[in-house]
This record gives sequence, C-alpha cells and structure tokens, in this order.
Amino acid sequence: MSKKYEFWFVVGSQFLYGPEVLETVAARAAEMAEKLSAVLPYPIVYKVTAKTNAEITSVVKEANYDDKCAGIITWCHTFSPSKMWINGLNLLQKPYCHLATQYNREIPNDEIDMDFMNLNQAAHGDREHGFIGARLRLPRKIIAGYWQDESVQKRLGDWMKVAVGVAFSRELKVMRFGDNMREVAVTEGDKVEVQTKLGWQVNTWPVGKLVDTMNAVTDAEIDALMEVYRAVYDFATDDIETVRYQAREEIAMKKMMDAEGCMAFSNTFQDLYGMKQLPGLASQHLMAQGYGYGGEGDWKVSAMTAIMKAMGEGGNGASAFMEDYTYHLVEGQEYSLGAHMLEVCPSVAADRPRIEVHPLGIGDREDPARLVFEGKAGPAIVVSLIDMGGRLRLICQDIEAVKPILPMPNLPVARVMWKAMPDLTTGVECWITAGGAHHTVLSYDVTAEQMRDWARIMDIEFVHITKDTTPEKLEHELFLNDLAWKLK
Ligand code: MN
Repeated sequence: MSKKYEFWFVVGSQFLYGPEVLETVAARAAEMAEKLSAVLPYPIVYKVTAKTNAEITSVVKEANYDDKCAGIITWCHTFSPSKMWINGLNLLQKPYCHLATQYNREIPNDEIDMDFMNLNQAAHGDREHGFIGARLRLPRKIIAGYWQDESVQKRLGDWMKVAVGVAFSRELKVMRFGDNMREVAVTEGDKVEVQTKLGWQVNTWPVGKLVDTMNAVTDAEIDALMEVYRAVYDFATDDIETVRYQAREEIAMKKMMDAEGCMAFSNTFQDLYGMKQLPGLASQHLMAQGYGYGGEGDWKVSAMTAIMKAMGEGGNGASAFMEDYTYHLVEGQEYSLGAHMLEVCPSVAADRPRIEVHPLGIGDREDPARLVFEGKAGPAIVVSLIDMGGRLRLICQDIEAVKPILPMPNLPVARVMWKAMPDLTTGVECWITAGGAHHTVLSYDVTAEQMRDWARIMDIEFVHITKDTTPEKLEHELFLNDLAWKLK
C-alpha cells in the first residue's frame, strides 16, 4: 500500500450568474478542498468549476486515466444544468460521491438577498445533479450535511477508504498454492467472473516452486525475521527450529508474491508436497503485513481479506480471515467461537500473541508453530462473498465480539468469540438462508455501510443481516434480488 491516492473535487455551476460568481465559487471550492484535505484520510484536489459539457467530459477522462485519482466528489454550489453532465458521467469509471452540502452553515438573516440566493443554491442545484445520477443509474454515494461537521467528514473519509478498496480490488492479484480442498462447494467460484466484475487476477503457482524458493532462503534471512518475531510476539516454545521453519516458509511465500505483485494467497493442507509444516505463523505474520489469506484454497476470502485490510487505516486494519468453528448454546450466553486450524491474523488480537508449537492432526505434517491469542471485544462485521452462478453475492452480518467467556486452556489456536445479530440462532438462520460461507472476513475497522458502498460500485448483490433482520423479511428480499439480478 505505497500508493498515494487523491480525490478530485468537481464543482458544478454555469455561466448565467456572471464571472464574479464563478470566481467566488472557484475560490470557495479550493478553500473547501484544502480544509477537508487537512482532516480526511486522503487529499481532495479541486479540479474545476464545471460550466460546460466539454469541461466535465475532459475532467472525467482525465480522472479515468490518472492512477492517483481514486474517485471524484461532486457538488453544485449554484444551479448546474445536468444535461451538460451526461456525456462526462457516462464515461466515468472511478467511484463517484455526490456531496450535498453548502458553503455557509447558516442563512444570514440581514445579508440574505437575491444575489446571496443565486450564489448559494446547492439546495436546488444538488437536486438537479441528483436527478441525472438517478436517470443514468449511476452507482453513487450520496452524503448530505454541512461540510465542516465531523459526522459528514467521517462519512466522506469512510467512503474514500471504500474507493481505495475499489482501486485495490481492480489491480489485485491472488497467488494460489494448490487447488481448493477436495469436494468443498462454497470455496469454488468463477475466476473469469471475479476478474470481470472485481478486477481480481486469480492464478495458480506450483507448490514445488514454493519448496524450491524455501530451500533457497538463507540462515541470515531467517535470523532477521526471527528478530521481528521476537519484537512483536512472545515465544512460548523452546522449539526454535520449528519456528525457524515457519520463517523460511514466510520468506519464500513473500518473495514469490512480491515478485508477481500479489497481495493475497491461498493454500491447502491437501497439497503440502515437500513441506514439513502447514504454514501457520508464516501465514499469520503475512496477514499482519496486509496480505490476504484463505485456507483450503479459498481464494475468494483471501482476496476479500486483502481488500478489507487495504480499506482499513494504514493499509493493515483489524480485518482477518475467520471461520465459524463451534457454538456455545447455553441460554443467555449464545456465542459463536471463531478460529481456524492455525491461520488467524494477529491484527485482531486483544493482547500480545504467543508463538506456540502443537501437533496438528490434519494435513499429515510435523507440528507447526502458530500464534495463539484472544480476539478483541467490540462491534464488528463478518463478510462472505459467494458465487451464486451468474452473479456474486456479498453477505455482511453485524456482530458483537466479546472477550471469550471461557479460558479454553487446551485450545491451541487463536480464537474470537461473538454474538451475531439479531441473536445467535436467528442470525444463523439468516446466514444459512443467504448461503453465507463458513469462511469470512471479520473486521473491527470496516463498516457494513462501507461494504454496501463497495458492493454498489462493484455492481454485485449485497445482503446485510442486522439487529432488525427477520428470516421472513430476508427470504423476501432474496427472492426479489434473484428476480432483479436475472433481469439486469
Ligand atoms: Mn477453513
């Protein structure tokens, strides 16, 4: 995530009011871009006060072509007739946010006259602009409110992160080591469809090549990574050789991914030919650096993990590959216990993770080193992307993570415990009705609103299970969605 993204501010007006008004609009737009840039996660660059079809078409073409530009933000300071926006907006390939705001917060009681009204008419200018967005069926984010309000700035910042998630998705490469786990359905998917819709390049590399790369890793490289491990994790094992083997695996996988520009990977315990351990700590520490991961060949969840990490602050938000493992069904204490065989990202850890070595029954290899920890408490979401045949469905469920209510001293893996909305059993019924996978991305950073915005831009189905969802309402929604997506 070394890319420096920016957003372009395109402000609508027209010639009708004379040059003085246009100068004021331009000066204010520049001032707003500057002030917002100081508080938002990415800068806003004021580009143009749009008065003609040619100006709008030109700025949109430029935005499409410029890799730095992650999206455009529009606003109409004055009225801006929307027919002149049609040609440009029809060409737009970048995320689009309509900020319905106005320069002044208050109506100035004494000062207000017809000149003031003509200059400050976002209230109807933004409606004209909104109509053409609706008429052209454009995927838009609409944020209304005063531009200096923190709540408006927070929503604009969140949308910017979504747009960065879009840019990241459109160039994402996923490295597959081995195929999907035999016979599993939900981890399958149409790789041509995901590339068409989401931009993902999902391809396979031989495990033998990984083993060759592992064998070429030097002791000095392993020493250096062991120092990093010591700095961020506690060693709760004396079996240093086993930990060093994970370091060897991590270095080799990272080298192969970096050589191809991949930010996500999958592997499977059914294809570890030539490897002594299933990567545990290796995969976990790669996730901590922002790489996506999916177990059992699940490249979809791997890609979604990488994207949601990219949407999180600093390129490595608390978003993790997760799996619903087992339930606690005691009345009044109903929780899901999420974990994986090994590979839970330490970005979701409540405390400093421990490196431990334990046997692993699955995969028929030597005891692997892994990080063990408890997940954080707090509101979060779980997200699953499934292939419905003909379309992709993104399912998002609101959850409340808790400090695990049991110490589980013999459980040798990282664990997160949560309560799904609206309650455990209704939530499970809704999740199963929608076809959600056992693998998810669990995120404390990315919100359901952001995932909805991302799905809208990507033109895929979005299903949100909230505290207000009932199985009946959900079933009806899914039925209508199915019809609508067949007509699209
Ligand atoms: Mn799994």
